[in-house]
Amino acid sequence: MRVLVTEPLAEPGIQRLRAHAEVDVRLKLSPEELKRIIPGYEALIVRSGTKVTRELIEAGARLRVIGRAGTGVDNIDLKAATEHGVIVVNAPTANCVAAAEHTIALLLALARNIPQADQAMRRGEWDRHRFVGTAITDKTLGLIGFGRVGSEVARRAKGLGMRVIAYDPYMPAERARALGVELRSLEDVLQEADFVSLHVPLTEETRHLMNARTLALMKPGSSLINVSRGGVVDEEALYQALQSGHLAGAALDVFSEEPPRDNPLVGLPNVITTPHLGASTAEAQVGVALEVAEAVIAALEGRLPPTVVNAPMIPPETLAELAPYVDLAERLGRMAIQLARDTGGPSQVHIVYSGTIGRGDTRPLRAAVLKGLLEPVSEQRINWVNADLIAEQRHLEVVEEHRPAEGPWTNSITLRLTNGHVQEIEGTVVQGAPHVVRIGDFRIDLELNGYILICRNIDRPGMIGQVGTILGREGINISFMQVGRDRPRGHAVMALGLDEPPPEHVVAEIASLPDISFALLVRI
Ligand code: NAD
Repeated sequence: MRVLVTEPLAEPGIQRLRAHAEVDVRLKLSPEELKRIIPGYEALIVRSGTKVTRELIEAGARLRVIGRAGTGVDNIDLKAATEHGVIVVNAPTANCVAAAEHTIALLLALARNIPQADQAMRRGEWDRHRFVGTAITDKTLGLIGFGRVGSEVARRAKGLGMRVIAYDPYMPAERARALGVELRSLEDVLQEADFVSLHVPLTEETRHLMNARTLALMKPGSSLINVSRGGVVDEEALYQALQSGHLAGAALDVFSEEPPRDNPLVGLPNVITTPHLGASTAEAQVGVALEVAEAVIAALEGRLPPTVVNAPMIPPETLAELAPYVDLAERLGRMAIQLARDTGGPSQVHIVYSGTIGRGDTRPLRAAVLKGLLEPVSEQRINWVNADLIAEQRHLEVVEEHRPAEGPWTNSITLRLTNGHVQEIEGTVVQGAPHVVRIGDFRIDLELNGYILICRNIDRPGMIGQVGTILGREGINISFMQVGRDRPRGHAVMALGLDEPPPEHVVAEIASLPDISFALLVRI
């Protein structure tokens, strides 16, 4: 078996591979050269610099596995790999400690003006007054994102005598408490922290999470650290916040464009920059090399490693009849996590399969629920091979129960979370389409698709009209509407399908109407 490595990989990883296969390390190949030699290899290992295109995958007639030494797989055409039966694996866990240590290094460098003082000395200056720093002991560190890296940063900051608070709406509060960290709202963290450090993945929700509004919420004179992804920060807004003196400083390891071109943040006197060095320690490089090598070996030996990025959601042996329920399970997961927004991350998901669907192998259904719950808030791609492991890493307990069919459906799936504005939802498949048929205690029937505004309200005349008027005023078209209620003039749930998503302030206006206890926009 032959493995081609096209970017630097730490020696222990190469050695591990050599024990199982013939390994060629060929750095700096042109795309043409790579395409010419790829037919001779079963495995290809890259970092982020090699573009693994459809053309390259198609040229690799013997290719069985592509290993990415690191996390992001943007440089690999996953669809083409999947279509050609090529497994893609990555190494997502080995660099967390390195990223956390880099965060602490930046925190201390910011607090004590180390790069600026060093530069001044190189110019022959000796100015002890200009570089008076700030203590970090007894200061508050605010973490945005409390996953693998965030929690490692917390441990270290606590050791340095800092108070640590964090915002992570998808992490169970108990998990943070166990590390002596308090989970708070985003606003609280921004307003209270002396240093805010970002540790979220780049998702639809986190893009420009730090923008003019959220930067303005930060305490005057506080500092921002970003070792996550450049896109999480609106760089123009950060530049303004630093120029105006609202923020004392920033330390940035990642940028919206890398390497940054004409980025005014680079070179500002109160900004420290490093060229995406978060994972760059010798130890992390060895860890990543070993992690990817193990995964590639496993794939070559016909085993599926837990870090497989493109395993199908439905294993081939699963019957096609299950496919619509796998889709339903994912959409219910997606809805459930959005209904839990701002109520704390769930520590358990209870899945009830009613009917015949829970009788066989429930792994694809369970994985689909977890994919719906976790994928929108993470960089990892969840599939039936890695779902259980990822849930475990995120401290999310999964409980499954099988019951005979109840109600009018042959099969249905109920999800119950430990947190949420609504903690329980039930869905089924109606004429091949996924439907939610119960929200909390309310019977309803709507297709799980597009944008759905869900309101809980008192059932009285005029409620629907008031919500409709606000949406109409904003030019938002309602495609369908459903109301479920316990009794006339009792409590009700109103669900409106929308052609376009209303802005946040419109949802907030609806939520503030009298007799509405909550309004939430769910995107399926
Ligand atoms: P992780 O998935 O373990 O943790 C991310 C956490 O963010 C999760 O707990 C998740 O619940 C939370 N989250 C998701 N959406 C959120 C939101 N809208 N608001 C608040 N919290 C939210 O990921 P990780 O391994 O800890 O990595 C964190 C970040 O660091 C990622 O962006 C990763 O790419 C980056 N990273 C950078 C380097 C580097 O070299 N600079 C190295 C490693 C990781």
